[in-house]
Amino acid sequence: MTVAARAPASLAPDFVRRLEAAVGRGLLDSADGAPYLTEWRGLWRAKNAVVVRPASTEEVAEVVRLCAEALVPIVPQGGNTGLTGGSIPYEDEAAVVVNLGRMNRVRAVDPLNYAMTVEAGCILQTLQRTAEEADRLFPLSLGAEGSCQIGGNLSTNAGGVAVLKYGNARDLVLGLEVVLADGTIWDGLRGLRKDNTGYDLKQLFLGAEGTLGIITAAVLKLFPKPRDKRTSFVALRDLDAAIELLVRMRSATGDQVASFEYLPRNCLQMALDHIPGVADPMSRVYDHYALIEVSRTADEDAGFAEHVEAALGKAVEDGLVLDAAVAQSQAQAAMFWKIRDSMAEAQKGEGPAIRHDIAVPVSRIPAFYRECRGRVLARLPEARIHGFGHVGDGNLHYNIAAPRGMDSQAFLALMGEINGVVHDCVAEYQGSISAEHGIGRLRRAELPRYKGAVELALMRKVKAALDPLGIMNPGKVI
Ligand code: FAD
Ligand code: ZN
Repeated sequence: MTVAARAPASLAPDFVRRLEAAVGRGLLDSADGAPYLTEWRGLWRAKNAVVVRPASTEEVAEVVRLCAEALVPIVPQGGNTGLTGGSIPYEDEAAVVVNLGRMNRVRAVDPLNYAMTVEAGCILQTLQRTAEEADRLFPLSLGAEGSCQIGGNLSTNAGGVAVLKYGNARDLVLGLEVVLADGTIWDGLRGLRKDNTGYDLKQLFLGAEGTLGIITAAVLKLFPKPRDKRTSFVALRDLDAAIELLVRMRSATGDQVASFEYLPRNCLQMALDHIPGVADPMSRVYDHYALIEVSRTADEDAGFAEHVEAALGKAVEDGLVLDAAVAQSQAQAAMFWKIRDSMAEAQKGEGPAIRHDIAVPVSRIPAFYRECRGRVLARLPEARIHGFGHVGDGNLHYNIAAPRGMDSQAFLALMGEINGVVHDCVAEYQGSISAEHGIGRLRRAELPRYKGAVELALMRKVKAALDPLGIMNPGKVI
């Protein structure tokens, strides 16, 4: 196939020829490129873009220089597992998708500095293993870890199930290498924990969803590898009891709670109904559950298991916990996690859902949950509220499934309105309308309603300063 035959109508053949000169085999033809132009659920598709897969920072820089010269939009892409449409160009946009998948080298591991230097295209799970081989922990962990890339994780400031103890992706970064919007390479790959030499520029690119530059490599923080874990699945009196238990567990274990995930009964039921091999950890039915993982990093802490069990025992005595199963084996712990990790899959079995990824202060979760539930049901009686997730850090996936029997199209037509009901409630509780998934294109139109004018104006100034031509992932975030 000739180069010109690969070019979408509105990308000049000469431009595509120069792209090919820059990346060689890294320029995909339309058949090979197709998977990179479709969002993984098929929600968004680009028809008019080309895909390049550069193999080095210099190749990324050359691609960006060419795009800047020709004013062609660039859409950076990692594992394409994002949930807000940030990694796919708009349908008719004549853009260049820059997929980082071939930049997947671990450049260095420095166990004494508790750090590793990695390229943006490394798969998250591979990096977890790299750390483990060095007797260290890289704690970022989320459902898509087998296919998402660290560059995508950093660009969305991903959260996941260990934020309570280790922080978001943003908190796990010491340094970055970034290709700026004019093709300049910024080498900020410093492995320092202290560096007060001016503005902390890396923070601009973390969570920027590819709108300010392309992250090509990062220095990541490592931690001592946990020596032991206690994974428990508990039935709770109510959501208030969940928060009380969280507080008690944090202090009883010297703040070693890594994960504290909440599931209401209807979410456990979804997993039981739709996911093969899932069993109810309890012999009776309860309304509220939590999956709690406490990890011990000290080599010696003889009382560790006892501290966890004593805290749970006291919570049973006080009526916060109605039943508790502490995993007796890795297989049982894996089964508890399977319930939690299967939520996205199980949700599909319940028909269409209107999703929200929200955060409120941890202390306000119970009141928010009740208030929001009341408002959603006032608008749509019989709606099924599947609100679950990372209550340990204040983040709920507050999904609304259609009332049984309701026509899917009629239900989905209410999406904007239901989003408004939930997000207005979130705002009243001083919360966020995107806790961990980002804004992308999905929440872009809503952002001005919930961000202050001053904050939005500052964001626009940053965007104009770093991407004056407006070619970096245009139409995403702001
Ligand atoms: P992509 O989807 O490819 O891109 C995401 C955004 O980042 C896009 O705007 C893209 O342009 C930009 N981008 C990608 N790479 C770069 C780069 N190198 N430089 C600059 N910009 C770039 N997210 C959570 O936070 N917590 C969860 O618990 C979680 N669970 C999930 C579970 C499942 C089953 C799935 C499918 C997704 C889940 N996600 C979760 C969402 C998603 O996995 C994360 O947002 C992830 O960080 C995206 O990484 P990616 O490599 O797939 O990025
Ligand atoms: Zn999540």
